[in-house]
Amino acid sequence: MQELSHYINGAHVKGTSGRFADVMNPATGEVQARLPLATVEELNDAVAKAAEAQVAWGATNPQRRARVMMKFGQLINDHMDELAELVSREHGKTLPDARGDVQRGLEVVEVCMGGPAMLKGEFTDDGGPGIDLYSMRQPLGVVAGITPFNFPAMIPLWKMAPALTCGNAMILKPSERCPSTALRLAELLQEAGLPDGVLQVVNGDKAVVDAILDNDTIAAVGFVGSTPIAQYIYGRAANNGKRAQCFGGAKNHMIIMPDANLDMAADALVGAGYGAAGERCMAISVAVPVGKDTADALIEKLIPRIEKLKVGPYTGGDDVDFGPVITKASKDRITGLIDSGVAQGASLLIDGRGFELQGYENGYFVGPSLFDNVTPDMDIYKEEIFGPVLSQVRTDSYEEALKLTMDNPYGNGTAIYTADGDTARDFAHRVNVGMVGINFPIPVPLSYHTFGGWKKSAFGDLNQYGPDAFRFYTKTKTVTARWFSGIKDGAALNFKAMD
Ligand code: NAD
Repeated sequence: MQELSHYINGAHVKGTSGRFADVMNPATGEVQARLPLATVEELNDAVAKAAEAQVAWGATNPQRRARVMMKFGQLINDHMDELAELVSREHGKTLPDARGDVQRGLEVVEVCMGGPAMLKGEFTDDGGPGIDLYSMRQPLGVVAGITPFNFPAMIPLWKMAPALTCGNAMILKPSERCPSTALRLAELLQEAGLPDGVLQVVNGDKAVVDAILDNDTIAAVGFVGSTPIAQYIYGRAANNGKRAQCFGGAKNHMIIMPDANLDMAADALVGAGYGAAGERCMAISVAVPVGKDTADALIEKLIPRIEKLKVGPYTGGDDVDFGPVITKASKDRITGLIDSGVAQGASLLIDGRGFELQGYENGYFVGPSLFDNVTPDMDIYKEEIFGPVLSQVRTDSYEEALKLTMDNPYGNGTAIYTADGDTARDFAHRVNVGMVGINFPIPVPLSYHTFGGWKKSAFGDLNQYGPDAFRFYTKTKTVTARWFSGIKDGAALNFKAMD
């Protein structure tokens, strides 16, 4: 049995608490490693060392810090296959999907290679008589990142790359379900030249999260995970005077207009609904066709596509479309929600319950499920299912579809499929959701834009990565400077008349 570690001061460190979490292989249901869960003392010690290391790192000029990101990016590329395998082993997603997970994190590292440009200050010349103003961005000190299981590479990279580029030290607490990728990334960062102690990976559960939130040295917390935990962390961090940005769950709607290309829309729904077993915060879980004809035609196109999907372990070959869900509890929760959909009157057209795979009987596999005639009062509509379940909610008009999307408490992502530019533009303008796709199902913005939802999908200010991250991970200091007349007066050489 492999025993994992923390990564402190540039070295793997065994846990001392005697408490461990099992890291499962979701395809087989077997324990594949034990992860130490840190104590409050271990966390506080790691923070104290990080604070020491941050002093020199924060004083290192921005270009030298960016060079570490350049080397880091190179190492991620060199180790792409190894990192993808680590992601798949613990998460269960397919290898091509895992490569995407690493790649979308790498792209944030690439933006950080140009970090000095983002860290430039502002200057006003002659704001008053002889007065100049300048603002500078300075690191916060020690910051923390707390990340979810579903993107074991991408989200730790979204946190660590901008935070470190800005001159901070970081305590990273990855998900206890998929910790190995973050530990490997810490090794690669050290190889890239990051000084020891500047990134500390401290593994743990709620006890360590609470210790992070209560540690006075930690100045900011960046969290990604489910909405109840995001809201809890935001509240406790803010109460303790920390800067916090906490990204939560989602229920993403896709509106399909009668003029949409339905083949494209059906392909998009299958990819965005079932990819990664639906365990993406930007998954489309609600299809909202406008008009009965659109809804009927869409269902006809979806069913054969969904029936063709191949579910299996990531080792099962190139034609596996998606893998198991993350835990037995998650599988039970998803199948329980499917039960509730049936009981509450939705039409279950494809039933993923009871899916079994020979040789993987104890794995956490759920087959793809498709519901029609879902209504907003049903639990399958209200809950974030986070599994391979797509619900169709029928509407009669564009306005009704827009209202449904806007009334939903979550606001992470949404999409519209239409051939009409005016409708698409109206949707993008009016919808109260943070990321919008037009004939594009998963509109995760590129790394030089920023990522963030609205409503219950995010708590706090500023988005992840892009220019917002450089604002979140720095504080602004503004200097107003006046220099009184100096020696240029005293040194006047003109021949003055005597008074
Ligand atoms: P989670 O909320 O269970 O866990 C996230 C992190 O919080 C983990 O590191 C975990 O150890 C910690 N945590 C869990 N319970 C805690 C508690 N009671 N107190 C303190 N800390 C706790 O989320 P998850 O299951 O790992 O991830 C899936 C969720 O994340 C989904 O809701 C998904 O939509 C969301 N997500 C959101 C985004 C986004 O950017 N908005 C991105 C990815 C995932």
